[in-house]
Amino acid sequence: MREEKIIIANWKMKLGLKETLDLAKEVKAKFKDFKGGEIAVCPNFISLLEAKKILGSAIKVGAQNVFWEGNGAYTGEISPSLLAEAGCEYVIIGHSERRKFLMVNYEMIHRTIKAVLKVDNLIPIVCIGENWDERKTDRRDFVLFDQLQQALGGVDIGPDQQIIIAYEPIWAIGSGTAIEPSEAEYAHKIVRLTLNDMFGMSVVNKNFKIIYGGSINSKNVKKFVGLENLDGMLVGGASLDADEFYKLAKAII
Ligand code: PEP
Repeated sequence: MREEKIIIANWKMKLGLKETLDLAKEVKAKFKDFKGGEIAVCPNFISLLEAKKILGSAIKVGAQNVFWEGNGAYTGEISPSLLAEAGCEYVIIGHSERRKFLMVNYEMIHRTIKAVLKVDNLIPIVCIGENWDERKTDRRDFVLFDQLQQALGGVDIGPDQQIIIAYEPIWAIGSGTAIEPSEAEYAHKIVRLTLNDMFGMSVVNKNFKIIYGGSINSKNVKKFVGLENLDGMLVGGASLDADEFYKLAKAII
């Protein structure tokens, strides 16, 4: 699974319906002849169905969140199977903004991953990453280890199932400055070694991707090219401009 890089756009709650669909059209046009990697965009829930119609099958669609139950009295929530029905092939789980503003924790993330893996062709993008205080006090390695254990401990991964781990240092998200590539590579190595311990190296090589997110743009992405343990990018701000997003994707593929 590792050979092909993936670039995922997280449009967050930054666009209205019309703006989302206009951007989807621009992205579709821009990436018309794009080859060599997977592109996915994650619009808001309201825009998912229409965005999917515009983007077709070459550019994948993902959701920004999902609930851990399949059906029932859960007002306001969306199930994994409903996302699949809407054409989503990816879903972001436990983004740091949800951990911060909605008190999402890794026990909830664990339940959600298990629910998503029950649905065919829906790939979880699991967000992990330390905050500035943890980074400053040298606790990053333990934080990553602990988040992975809580999120994925005891999870069964089928032979054809895929999981994307998005390492997103919270202090870099939306800051305008990405972390040093060497620091990202180091963190990704910690992630890979932890996953190797949990699932075995062959499963990790085949079923996992480890991607970076945090203030990546078409310029600073160039310094990340060729990192051994980097399988792609999760992009916020820079994905809101089709041209910028295209340049970024071209640079890393
Ligand atoms: C994100 O929120 O997932 C993200 C990567 O945002 P940005 O690129 O804007 O830092």
